[in-house]
Amino acid sequence: MKSISIFGSTGSIGCNTLEVVRSLNRHGYPVAVKYLSGNSRTEIMIQQIREFKPDAAVVFSPEGYTELKGISFPNKCEILFGEDGLKEIISRRDTDLAVNALVGFSGLVPTIECIKNGVDVALANKESLVVAGEFITQLLKQSKSKLIPVDSEHSAILQCIQGESLKEVSGIILTASGGPFRDTDAEQLQYVTKEEALKHPNWKMGNKITIDSATLMNKGLEVIEAKWLFTLDTDEIKVLIHPQSIIHSLVEFSDGSYKAQLGVPDMKIPIQYAITFPERIRSEYERPDFVSLRNLTFEVPDFGKFPCLKMAYEAAEAGASYPVVLNASNEVAVELFLDGKIKFTDIAELIRNTLDHHESCNLTDLDSVKEIDKWARNFVYDYASVLH
Ligand code: NAD
Ligand code: MG
Repeated sequence: MKSISIFGSTGSIGCNTLEVVRSLNRHGYPVAVKYLSGNSRTEIMIQQIREFKPDAAVVFSPEGYTELKGISFPNKCEILFGEDGLKEIISRRDTDLAVNALVGFSGLVPTIECIKNGVDVALANKESLVVAGEFITQLLKQSKSKLIPVDSEHSAILQCIQGESLKEVSGIILTASGGPFRDTDAEQLQYVTKEEALKHPNWKMGNKITIDSATLMNKGLEVIEAKWLFTLDTDEIKVLIHPQSIIHSLVEFSDGSYKAQLGVPDMKIPIQYAITFPERIRSEYERPDFVSLRNLTFEVPDFGKFPCLKMAYEAAEAGASYPVVLNASNEVAVELFLDGKIKFTDIAELIRNTLDHHESCNLTDLDSVKEIDKWARNFVYDYASVLH
């Protein structure tokens, strides 16, 4: 019996993870959900507690916490609050794996706490590695915990390098769908609406990552994530637009061979792989219909039209505190766009300005990461208020 916790269980990856747990249990791979955590979608959380009967659930919103505290669950599920609650359950060290499906910077501390406590992490929260890749890599060296990617591209790469020597990997190619504005003229991008930006052609995901996919910042964050996960230089990581989202990424080897991992765009497949790694367990998830697909196509990304991808490469190359600034300014800019306060193209402008005003510094610990994150957030809010 594998015992897991899910941080961010009420979100897109969280709900898909619970769907995977149901399927694994049906296929003779028993998984128990010991802990759940969510922010404000209490209705979903209540239903999840009733079905999966975790020992404890951690709620981040004060209202949600009060509401859940008032319910007497048949399994006596303990209700804990916020980051301290999450730290408390992680410190119990009684799960085999934590699925980190939190969004944004909020996922960082839980990733670090798991590694410090020797708990394996199935990492969907790419932002953890973007802002503290070096710090996390150091911690992993002193810990018995493993970091297993959930992101479909990184799961693809992990699958391709099984049985290979990392020394023979000469580069990787991350594929990107191109998002909803792949064919939109660059001049039209300033007029696109939130609703249009939220209509991803292939994947159904949370709002933040859906906007990141529309700006291609998501792919930029994934370049940084890949750099740390697979110990690569930035110039060894290429991005190709592959609108069908069937090839989830490719690895190039020193002899000129490439390996790719394919499947339908369904996060349940990489989530399951992260939970059962290195084993494979049967599933009934949809298979690609290659004959009706007919074509798998590839394009070079347009860095001029999608400056976020270019800025992410630059931040990856510059290193130090730049990726923290990139991430924080992006999180705030996306939030402002979703709130209808700025235009789609302002997202890149805000990030560019924040990066330009930042003076690089070395990140020595978690506090220094938090400090830079805070500076960048404040800078974007101030700058956005005088934008129009
Ligand atoms: P989501 O918005 O659907 O869910 C986020 C979860 O985190 C929810 O449970 C929410 O309650 C919780 N949460 C949000 N803010 C919080 C806070 N401040 N404190 C504590 N909890 C908070 O997001 P998602 O699409 O599931 O994405 C989660 C992570 O997985 C992101 O890092 C994303 O980049 C990554 N990812 C997602 C997909 C996908 O298909 N959705 C694919 C690849 C990677
Ligand atoms: Mg991805």
